[in-house]
Amino acid sequence: MNNYEYLLSDISILKGVGKSLASKFRRKNINTIFDLILSIPSKYIDRSLETKIKNLHIGKIQTITIRVEKYNFPRIKNLPNKVICSDDTGRLDCIFFNSYEGYIRKILPLGKLVTISGKIGFFRGKYQITNPTHVSTDKNKIKKIHSNYSLTEGVSDKIFNKTIKEALKKLPKMNEWLSPNILNYLNNISWNDAILNLHNPNKTNDQKKYIERLIFDEILSTFLINSNIRKNFKKKNKIPKKININLVNYVENQIGFKLTEDQHKAITEINNDIGSKQRMFRLLQGDVGSGKTIVSLVSAQNVILNKYQVAFMAPTEILAKQHFSLFKKIFGKTIKAELLTGKTQYKEKKKILNYLDNNKIDIIFGTHSLFQKKIKFKKLGLIIVDEQHKFGVNQRKKLSEKGGSNCDVLVMSATPIPRTMMMTLYGDMDVTLIKSKPKNRKEIKTYTKDINKINDVIKFIKKEINNDNQIFWICPLIEESKKIDHQSSIVRYNYLTNIFKHKIGLLHGSIDKEEKDKILNNFLENKINILVSTTVIEVGIDFPNATCIVIEDSNKFGLSQLHQLRGRVGRGSKQSSCILLYKSSLSENARKRLKILKSTNDGFLIAEEDLKLRGYGDLLGFQQSGQKTFRLADPILNEDLFVLAEKEIKIIENENKDLSKYNSLLKLYDRADIVNELI
Ligand code: ADP
Ligand code: MG
Repeated sequence: MNNYEYLLSDISILKGVGKSLASKFRRKNINTIFDLILSIPSKYIDRSLETKIKNLHIGKIQTITIRVEKYNFPRIKNLPNKVICSDDTGRLDCIFFNSYEGYIRKILPLGKLVTISGKIGFFRGKYQITNPTHVSTDKNKIKKIHSNYSLTEGVSDKIFNKTIKEALKKLPKMNEWLSPNILNYLNNISWNDAILNLHNPNKTNDQKKYIERLIFDEILSTFLINSNIRKNFKKKNKIPKKININLVNYVENQIGFKLTEDQHKAITEINNDIGSKQRMFRLLQGDVGSGKTIVSLVSAQNVILNKYQVAFMAPTEILAKQHFSLFKKIFGKTIKAELLTGKTQYKEKKKILNYLDNNKIDIIFGTHSLFQKKIKFKKLGLIIVDEQHKFGVNQRKKLSEKGGSNCDVLVMSATPIPRTMMMTLYGDMDVTLIKSKPKNRKEIKTYTKDINKINDVIKFIKKEINNDNQIFWICPLIEESKKIDHQSSIVRYNYLTNIFKHKIGLLHGSIDKEEKDKILNNFLENKINILVSTTVIEVGIDFPNATCIVIEDSNKFGLSQLHQLRGRVGRGSKQSSCILLYKSSLSENARKRLKILKSTNDGFLIAEEDLKLRGYGDLLGFQQSGQKTFRLADPILNEDLFVLAEKEIKIIENENKDLSKYNSLLKLYDRADIVNELI
């Protein structure tokens, strides 16, 4: 058996772990021995320091050596047995409920010195310990530090400890996988030492360094897997595509504005990839409204001019359609573009599939349905995925396989990711950043307002509409919910309809697709002035004429989500505003979050703050990413270790050494199936 095989065995192979206990552990996501021994004790009970009776602290667990002075075993039922003990500084009683005299005489022999550890109580002027469990005439037999595990139903601390002890009995000696430098940084603690000390420490205050060693392993394994995906992706050479440098000029003429410096830079980086022998596997990241679409369309056209096909995937049909229309507007005269959605009629769909397979379509826009097995491309040269965070790592990996050896991959995301998360989420990709926004943009003005002052908001909106601008009004839930006091979009729609003579649209989750698209189209074509909506409009769609977004119960949204929503306005040259409504009682935390949003339009900064306030588990996009969350590592608390791991990965990549020494590490930290395919 390999070292890691024992660790990856089911816990039920351990002595004392039957079916029922195993299923209780499973409820806590503890399936394997490795899962079990990575359980961090929730606390340590330290019995190592002895004290004297006069220095005892009531309510604390303390250890003292005492002389057994006298038994007091009352003959009356229900009265506890008492043993009076003392040291040279005072008296302490041991109280026993439901214990036999014989047992008491045995553990506390009269006249003898006994070391005892337990929670100190105080009753009628005397210190006492009730039903002491840690008693011995031999001081050394008292376990100095006890690990306490956070419990799950049916698993007592005693059973937890026993199971861990059982698992550690056969703990295999792992060969060191960390480099000497890193090991040095981590206090030269081996994996085995870390595990053993975690559960059986000699001191309670040096746990941090043992846990850090384990955390680093976890981060490094994640990064290594990402790095392997990238390497594997690039290993196979492709035919370089030629780049048409006049395209940018052509596009600028068509759309009527100049591209920003960052957009130019992004195009150059992508062009270099497209024109190289290695396949592109690149993330184009830029805040909402930074102009990623046009960059991707230029890349698409370059690939098409090389007589390859392009597949452009968006998370919603309406967004796919918008990209499709823009592309047609710019390149439509010469290029054969198609849109494939759920609404495409059967006959039409069949034709499109046939044309794709016969290379009669140059570029196709659609949702993830573009990557169904039955859709075959004759000569796919580029896959573009918009709003990638809606899709996730697995889809990304599938995608990279779909294209074949000459296919480049470009994914886009507007979700700014804090630096420590970059390697975790996108470590398998190269990254291009668009930092600046188009110059004609005005900062979106953000206001917070008590819902009681809704009349002010109505006045404001009236002015906007009179100036021929459009409004988003966001409500969090569809219908009145008793549980959560969210404002319903239907109620709000009726309310606004009563006030405004203008056209108002309503969009929420239970409106069917066709109707939804119709409403969005009407809004796009300025046939609707106010669009009341739940958060369904969050993603990507471009409404240049919308200048104001009102968000109700704004404190119920995450910061990054609010920023994404706010990004729906301010896309044209007009002054835009975002009004964050709240009900009067705001928590301290909510107040802080809204303040951050008011103070900056910088999505990256907001993401960092969001991370600090809510923890990384809630980070927009992280949960959807399909990537498992860490067991031990925390991108906020362990930022230094993330940075260290990132440096180490670069070193490992540059050295280009045999990776077999990381085998056990990679096997232990799940996703081993991916590794199997790669190494
Ligand atoms: P995102 O990066 O969020 O996908 P889009 O690509 O949808 O942003 O662009 C947002 C808006 O900005 C669109 O209306 C687009 O036409 C416009 N835009 C893009 N680039 C520029 C530019 N360089 N100058 C002015 N407007 C631009
Ligand atoms: Mg976009």
